[in-house]
Amino acid sequence: MSDADARRTGRGILLVVAGPSGVGKGTMIAGLRERHPRVEWSISCTTREPREGEVDGRDYHFVSSEEFARMRREGELLEWAVVHGTHFYGTPRAPVEDALEDGRDIVLEIDFQGARSVRHALPEAVLVFVAPPSARALAERLARRNTEDAEAVVRRLRSARIEFGHIGMFQFLIVNDVLEDAVDALEAIYVAEKSRLRRTRWQELQRRLLDDMEA
Ligand code: ADP
Repeated sequence: MSDADARRTGRGILLVVAGPSGVGKGTMIAGLRERHPRVEWSISCTTREPREGEVDGRDYHFVSSEEFARMRREGELLEWAVVHGTHFYGTPRAPVEDALEDGRDIVLEIDFQGARSVRHALPEAVLVFVAPPSARALAERLARRNTEDAEAVVRRLRSARIEFGHIGMFQFLIVNDVLEDAVDALEAIYVAEKSRLRRTRWQELQRRLLDDMEA
């Protein structure tokens, strides 16, 4: 299907992927986007410092606390949250709304608080929770990612407990045990959403099929 065709089918899909830090959300979304390169990715803004190798405007928009506060005040954020009690993260509203209106699909990686705000602002959002197969697996992944010290890992595990308490608000659950299977599951959700009757040009197909039968 061409881009123009995609646009005619109406609004894009908003896929919200939540779950504890280190569970593999970023890796799974990268896997989905490899298979479906047209799926866009919302770049969050954050007040935290860039990690080694992160690029401003590609991984995050790195902003000052003052700039973040201004964006919040002026309603420029679709959702925002304080993570681990230290830094602010938020999703700029305009790129998401523009994508959806334009028929482009977009995926957000946020926590459960953010997912709740997005659901409130945009009830069409498809909410997916990614869980680890065990607490130990999560701890190992956080340690292996090696982007923070032991204290930060403990803090992230404490936040994970809170995330697990909110699984019930999601529509889909994926246990990220074998990565490939988890990406398959995320893709299945995406493809199923795209196949909803209201997203397809079914009347056109119906007309063509009926015409064919006449001939
Ligand atoms: P998140 O985006 O949820 O914080 P990441 O995508 O950064 O998590 O993944 C955290 C770490 O776990 C990375 O080192 C990643 O390669 C690893 N990882 C992701 N999925 C799996 C999996 N199914 N099995 C083992 N390791 C995984």
